[in-house]
Amino acid sequence: MTQPEKLLRELIALPSVNPAFLPAGDARAGEKRVADFLATTAGRAGLDVDLHKVLPGRSNFLARLTPSGTTTKRVVLAPHMDTVPPVSNEQLNPIRDNDRLFGRGACDTKGSVAAMLSALMLLAREKNRPKNTEIVFVGLIDEENAQAGSRAFAASGFKADLAIVGEPTRNQIVTAHKGSLWLQFETRGKAAHGARPDLGVNAVHEMARIVDVLQSDYAKMLRGKKHRLLGHPTISVGSINGGTQPNIVPAKCVASADRRLLPGETQASVFAEIQALLRKRGLQTTIGCAKNPGLPMEANLRLPLVQQFLKSAKQAKPAGVDYFCDASVLAHGGIPSVVFGPGDIAQAHTSNEWISIRSLNQATEMLLNFLRSLA
Ligand SMILES: [Zn+2]
Repeated sequence: MTQPEKLLRELIALPSVNPAFLPAGDARAGEKRVADFLATTAGRAGLDVDLHKVLPGRSNFLARLTPSGTTTKRVVLAPHMDTVPPVSNEQLNPIRDNDRLFGRGACDTKGSVAAMLSALMLLAREKNRPKNTEIVFVGLIDEENAQAGSRAFAASGFKADLAIVGEPTRNQIVTAHKGSLWLQFETRGKAAHGARPDLGVNAVHEMARIVDVLQSDYAKMLRGKKHRLLGHPTISVGSINGGTQPNIVPAKCVASADRRLLPGETQASVFAEIQALLRKRGLQTTIGCAKNPGLPMEANLRLPLVQQFLKSAKQAKPAGVDYFCDASVLAHGGIPSVVFGPGDIAQAHTSNEWISIRSLNQATEMLLNFLRSLA
């Protein structure tokens, strides 16, 4: 069994469910077990280990390989340690079937943790470590909920020339991803008796027309925008709630929508664009956000380390993905970031999450090649 597979099996067996998705006091919650285990493992391999407290009982885990000379560059390997809840505790028991290793977190992102830390530990054993580049592995907490780990890491003022954020990209180097906004719309009408609708203003009817504009004209308008790696932005209405009973004209209606952003788009630009379109149709609504926006991310392809990673991976063109991740947080905190990791996002969060062992071993090799190529 290869080192990354062994490490991944051990990681799957240590539950690290994001506490946001479990009842208080659930024994499977939190990243501590994984962080402590990684500290022991990395310490034994000769890396300098450290825990940075972020929330009570929840710390980012750091392991450093210092260069033989003075540090002039820094590369960060940054997967997250938390997972979504297992469907049952059986998912905490790693099971191999041919090329597939099943278990919660197998691809999202304990596979990346195993590949990245294995590559760093293998490099630490070699005589020729980079002369001037420090390599820092950071296992982040809370990616699946509020990204408290990457936010704290970026806010700490940590400087680096490149972060490779671990997510299942099928070992493709991803240099751009979309952002996300959870939009909330509210229409106000005037209540009246259902027998005299002429005396009221129907907030549900207003919202129904707004939903129609969003799903048809606005969606069409978005299909006209295009990004080289990400395609077009999207809108999807996800919920609608209004009125109380048949014989009262509804005075209020609330709807929510998921809007995925391209690099360059902002919350303000989206609000303005939607309001302008609705005004043209004579429709009125307030727009807000149901949670903090996830900003889109795009790495500068001219950065030497991005070029070097693409070259060492023999990847001719960078890729883009639709989902938001820690890369956005680190990039907006000043650390140029790309996304890379074994496994496929199609298996993430599923009831039979798995990873290809071939993909896991290949990711380790690719990372090791790149780290070896650093000066
Ligand atoms: Zn996930």
